[in-house]
Amino acid sequence: MSSEETLNEIAQQIVVCTRCKLHLSRKKAVPGAGSAKTAVMFIGEGPGFHENEQGLPFVGQAGQFLDELLSQAGLLREDVFITNVVKCRPPGNRDPQPEELEACRYYLDRQIEAINPDVIVTLGRISMSYYINNGKISSIHGKPIWFDNRMIVPMFHPAAALHQPSLREVVMDDFAKLPDQIQKAKDARRQNPEVVSQSQPVLDDDEPDENSVEQLSLF
Ligand code: URA
Repeated sequence: MSSEETLNEIAQQIVVCTRCKLHLSRKKAVPGAGSAKTAVMFIGEGPGFHENEQGLPFVGQAGQFLDELLSQAGLLREDVFITNVVKCRPPGNRDPQPEELEACRYYLDRQIEAINPDVIVTLGRISMSYYINNGKISSIHGKPIWFDNRMIVPMFHPAAALHQPSLREVVMDDFAKLPDQIQKAKDARRQNPEVVSQSQPVLDDDEPDENSVEQLSLF
């Protein structure tokens, strides 16, 4: 089965999923959208109002800003894959609960496996915590780490910059570094897959300092 067919099959399962209670209040599930052959995958938190209406990820205000950020990085939405840690809208846009994250992990893990991206960009605290325990987004944003043979780049959620205008420039600066990071991840995976697969983030302090993250970072 091609990666595109696998993604379509996962999407068909997601739209009828009843693995957690979020299915009770959803209008449309949002499996994700974009290219199955991309080097970079973006993972947000969960569908909001507009995404729940349309069944597509990041189509509201945060999505418009994400489009700007992608274009700044020379990327088109259709050339990357964009999804969320939970595929159904949490009521009132509350944070997804642990059992909802756990139920939906089943789909996200398979999407990642099907796409096999060189780089995963986590958008916001919740998707970052999928890879980094107790990391503080304010200190580790934009700094790549390696996990499971992929480069993970934790970024602020685009909505954070809409709520806090001072973050706008920070997020734009982080995205500006992305093309170079993608190239480095591609080169590293091609040249030395074993070394890369052995580096794991271990962040178990309550207040991880910049140095501990620096050690995990390849550059
Ligand atoms: N915020 C997210 O995290 N995901 C979306 O799809 C839309 C807004």
